[in-house]
Order: sequence, then structure tokens, then C-alpha cells
Amino acid sequence: MDTKTYDLGIIGGGPAGYTAALHARKKGLSVVLFEKDKLGGVCLNRGCIPTKTILHSAEFFSEINCAGELGVVVENAKVDFPAIMARKDAVVEKLRRNLELTIKNAKIDVVNAQAHLKDRNTIEADGEIYKCAKVIVSTGSVPRELPNIKFDHEFVLSSDDILSLKELPKSILIIGSGAIGIEWARIFSALGTDVTIVEVGKNLLPIADIEVSKRIERMFKAKKIKFYTNTGVENIENGTVKFSNGETLNPEKVLMSVGRTPNLCEKLEGVEYLGDVSGGIQLAHCAIKESLRVVDGVAFDETLVPSVIYGTPEIAWVGAREQDLEAGTFEKASILISALGKSHCDNCTDGFIKLLCQNGLIVGAHIVSKEASSLIHQVLIAIQNKIPAEKLREICFAHPTYSEGIFEIL
Ligand SMILES: Cc1cc2nc3c(=O)[nH]c(=O)nc-3n(C[C@H](O)[C@H](O)[C@H](O)COP(=O)(O)OP(=O)(O)OC[C@H]3O[C@@H](n4cnc5c(N)ncnc54)[C@H](O)[C@@H]3O)c2cc1C
Repeated sequence: MDTKTYDLGIIGGGPAGYTAALHARKKGLSVVLFEKDKLGGVCLNRGCIPTKTILHSAEFFSEINCAGELGVVVENAKVDFPAIMARKDAVVEKLRRNLELTIKNAKIDVVNAQAHLKDRNTIEADGEIYKCAKVIVSTGSVPRELPNIKFDHEFVLSSDDILSLKELPKSILIIGSGAIGIEWARIFSALGTDVTIVEVGKNLLPIADIEVSKRIERMFKAKKIKFYTNTGVENIENGTVKFSNGETLNPEKVLMSVGRTPNLCEKLEGVEYLGDVSGGIQLAHCAIKESLRVVDGVAFDETLVPSVIYGTPEIAWVGAREQDLEAGTFEKASILISALGKSHCDNCTDGFIKLLCQNGLIVGAHIVSKEASSLIHQVLIAIQNKIPAEKLREICFAHPTYSEGIFEIL
């Protein structure tokens, strides 16, 4: 066996791995990056990018169907599902090629093989040994199964399988209403599929602030998305899904989105475990920040990681949720999006902005609105830098915008 030596060896080429690799190269370190599949990891190939690309097509179709409300006449708009999926593949391919080129230009050695960590400084891959002064493991995560329900990849699908669908199903049951479940419910509903969601928690999107969850439930009812809360799936037999409340359903497909399991490995001392594999927050921007903290020493407050659920309207939040704060210890201020002129211009009036404050400082922000994915960062900057609500009032917000909503409620 040959032995090669590097300053840094990284196993896994997703957001955590490639960010660490690029930043280590900027510092002049020699870097070898192991990827057994495709550079870009889940985020680029099976997660953030493909889902948001499909979502855009789906919602564009839905918007066209409301074109008449805007005085635009569009006749015979139809969904070409294979074309939507082909566009998704093209977007992923293009971004992956850009990433591959960036990695190549940075002179990072990429080994396209499964890597095995032998000890804190030794990696084996493709019959070769790599000695690395420092090792990062960023092997990500995989879709989780339930003890009583397994993926069969034909009827019971994972978030990976769903990306290879050839035809749009007429009906789908989505198990779990986290970010993935909610986004796919929006996609299928916009494309005309009959969607049912089953959620064991008390409300849809149980990770969100309670008022956000309730608003999503109202919106889903209006869109005729059916959902069961406080309900589990007992079993699935011959295409029949039995719920814990005794009811049954026979959907064409089932998407099981009940979380993700870190790609397990025994943790070795002296090795950095970054991104989804670390067992912490499973978001691409969190993975990226963890890498920057380790490689560049950039400070990163893991309690202030924003969450965004895409679709119309977007949902975004950061910091404390109302249900986590003790009654009487906080102040709540909110505004309906319909109070903002811009929302009427855009025909997007559903939603709200809610801020939670303690001692004059914002401690939590919960937004359901068009552009929520951008708005949330304005509040995040204030929270992270402890800018008093009073100070924010001095800022001149442009009109007409959704940002005005933040100013209005301060
Ligand atoms: C459907 C879906 C939608 C999502 N949407 C969003 C979103 O909108 N925003 C967001 O922030 N996050 C989103 N996520 C989560 C996001 O994709 C992950 O948090 C992110 O990809 C984690 O990055 P990572 O680098 O830790 O791991 P990954 O992206 O999982 O990359 C790990 C890489 O390691 C490789 N690997 C594993 N084991 C080995 C080995 N032994 N040898 C060599 N290579 C190995 C894998 O092939 C993989 O490429 C989404 C996830 C899914 C599934």
C-alpha cells in the first residue's frame, strides 16, 4: 500500500466537508477530500437544491392558476412532470459542476471512494493509506425509518426516492410534518396531487412556534391538504396504511419524512465531526458554520441558527418560541402581513411577523410571509448583536416592503 501525507483529510464532500476543504486551502494547508458519491452531498444532490427547484416549478404553476386575479389571462396551463424533474436534474448538475471546478481550482485532491478512518491521523480508501495531521469527518446523514415501517423504495419512499419519481402520483400520504414533509406537501398540493399528512405531534410542524403551526394548519385546510395530528401510523400492509386512530388510507405513494440518522461511526478523540453527522442541528448553513468555526476560528452561536421552510408563504424563525418562555417573562408583538401595503400589491396577504422580547431585547422572531427567508436575517442581526428594539426603531425602512412590518411592531 502507498502512503500519502496531507495536513488535512476530510471524509465527506457535502457542505461541511467542502467548506472546510476550501477554507483550509486558503490558509495554505494541503487537503485531501474523500467522497464516495457526488460532491455537494445531500444538500446539493438530494436535499436543499433539488427540492427548492421542484418547489419553484410547482408554485409557479399554482401562481399561473391565479393569474386571472392579477388581470393576466393564461389558458390551458399544464404540468409536465418529467420536464420539472429534468429541470431539477439540470440545476443540480450545473451547480455540482461549478463546485467541482472550484474544488479543482483550489488544488484540493479529491478521492472518489468510500473512506475508512483507521485512527485519528489515518484514512484508508481504495487500497491506499493517507496520513493526515488533522482529520475531519463530515459524512452527513440518511433518511430515518420507523421501527414498524421500512422504505421499500416503491410504495414507501424516502426523500431520496421521491426525487426519482417518473410520474406525478394522484395521491400521497406524507408521514411526518417537519421541514421536508411540509415542503413536499406544498409541492404535491400545488401540482394537483391529493395530499394527506399524518403527524404524531399535537400540531403540524411541531418544531415551530405554536402560532406558526396553527397558521400552517389553517393554510393547509384552505388548500384542502388533509392532515391528522396526534396520530401515528400503526402499520402498512398491501398498500393500506392503518393509523393509530383506527382509520385507514390507500394512497398511491407514501413519503416517510420522520427525520434523519447521522451516518454512524465511532467517534475518535482528536477528530472533528462536523455537519449532520455530529448529531446536532441538521441544516446546511449550520454545517457550513461549524466548518468555519473549526478551520477559521469564526465564532458561531448554535442557539441562533435560523430555520426556513420554503413555499408560499415562506416560514422562518430564529431564537425562542413562545411555548418555551415562561408566561409573564416576555412581551409579544405581532403584525398581520395584510396590514402591509406590499402584501396587497403582491396578492400575498396571508401571514404574520411576531417578535418576542425580554428586557427590551428581541429573543425570538417568527415570520410567515413572502420573503420570510430574507426578513428573518434582519431580526437575527439584531438578536445576535443585542441591538435594543428601541434602536431598531431609528432605522428607516423602505416603503412599500415587508421589512416595514418589523418596524411597525417595534
Ligand atoms: C429533502 C431535504 C431538503 C433539505 N433542505 C434543506 C434546506 O432547505 N436548507 C438547509 O439548510 N438544509 C436542508 N436540508 C439538510 C441539508 O441537506 C443537510 O443539513 C446538509 O446536507 C448536511 O451537510 P453535511 O456536509 O453535514 O452532510 P451531507 O450533505 O450529507 O454530505 C455528506 C457526504 O459524505 C459522503 N460520505 C458519507 N460517508 C462517506 C465515506 N465513508 N467516505 C466517503 N464519503 C462519504 C456522502 O456521500 C455525502 O456526499 C435538506 C435535507 C433534505 C434531505
